Amino acid sequence: MKLSLRGLRFPFGQTRGRRYPEPPHPYRNEFQRDRDRVVHARAFRRLEDKTQVFSAGLSDHFRNRLTHTLEVSQISRTVASVLDLDEQLTEALALAHDIGHPPFAHAGEEELDRRMRQFGERFDHNLHALRIVESFEQRYARFPGLNLTFEVREGIVKHSRDLDPGENPELDDYLPGLRPPLEAQLIDLADEIAYNTADLDDGFAAGLFSVESVAASVPSFSVILETVSNQFPGASERVHFLEALRRLIDLLVSGLIEGTFAAASEAHLRDVEDVRRFPGRLACFTPEARAIDAALKNFLRRNVYASEGILEERERSTAMLSGLFEFFLRHPDRLPSPYREQAGEGPVHRVVCDYIAGMTDGFLKRTFQRTVGEPE
Ligand code: MG
Repeated sequence: MKLSLRGLRFPFGQTRGRRYPEPPHPYRNEFQRDRDRVVHARAFRRLEDKTQVFSAGLSDHFRNRLTHTLEVSQISRTVASVLDLDEQLTEALALAHDIGHPPFAHAGEEELDRRMRQFGERFDHNLHALRIVESFEQRYARFPGLNLTFEVREGIVKHSRDLDPGENPELDDYLPGLRPPLEAQLIDLADEIAYNTADLDDGFAAGLFSVESVAASVPSFSVILETVSNQFPGASERVHFLEALRRLIDLLVSGLIEGTFAAASEAHLRDVEDVRRFPGRLACFTPEARAIDAALKNFLRRNVYASEGILEERERSTAMLSGLFEFFLRHPDRLPSPYREQAGEGPVHRVVCDYIAGMTDGFLKRTFQRTVGEPE
């Protein structure tokens, strides 16, 4: 079956371009250049030492935010290529999608947000990602940041949610009220497939639940598992689980491809401008895949995210992040340059937040030991 949405592909010749115009490259198009700039950014390399869900230490095989990003990239590229969308734009967006994540996963993000609310501000990792690619990365002589194309910056701003008109005047350039192109829309669901199945994999490896309990809670998994067990009766439980998991990933990815194709076909759209003006997002799962996705989420919430080890780790890391935030608020002179200079000019909490958000888990722990950990 041909599932092409070619007419809705973002036509790369129509990019709104870069903030600082640059001559074209002889053999890479604009989105390939963006992809390469993301991969060469420091913030991208730091993803290696940022927790996804399970912190390193217990096992060398748990995902970190970098390996998670690679999984999102391969899933979303598969979806984009089957649907005949722009694979390079999709890849650049996938590689950038978590670049603004602070240390310690969602616990870190929530804690930074909680601290910023005390000053009437917020911390949002998408907006932080935008500031990274717009100004924090300093490696090019001609411009600050990575000077990415509009479409990649827009995808970063609209990752996982739309932007409403008037919501944030700083983001008025990014077409509030309009949907991003399909290439950006599918990243959110590719992200969801990647982290749900990876958390199931890592949770199983960590011994948090049995294969049977997954089968009892996720209906499609039980059907797949039965097929796999009948097909390979001599294989170990672990191999049965992994074989069933990869088939589950296939089912979800196919569900994303078919669901998006059906929604876009039913909407009778002509081009990317119609995608932008459509009242809702078109990237979606089929009803079957949506049910699996929901059952998986539910299972993970009960058996992984609320497990004792994860909650303890969360408490420890939240306390460390909070202690460090407090320390630099009281001692801005201990911030490294150029943060120290910035703290002299603007609100200290903003500078402290930017500094901490950029840290890896390991760097935060070391900095905590050097500062709060030492007697004052
Ligand atoms: Mg992600």
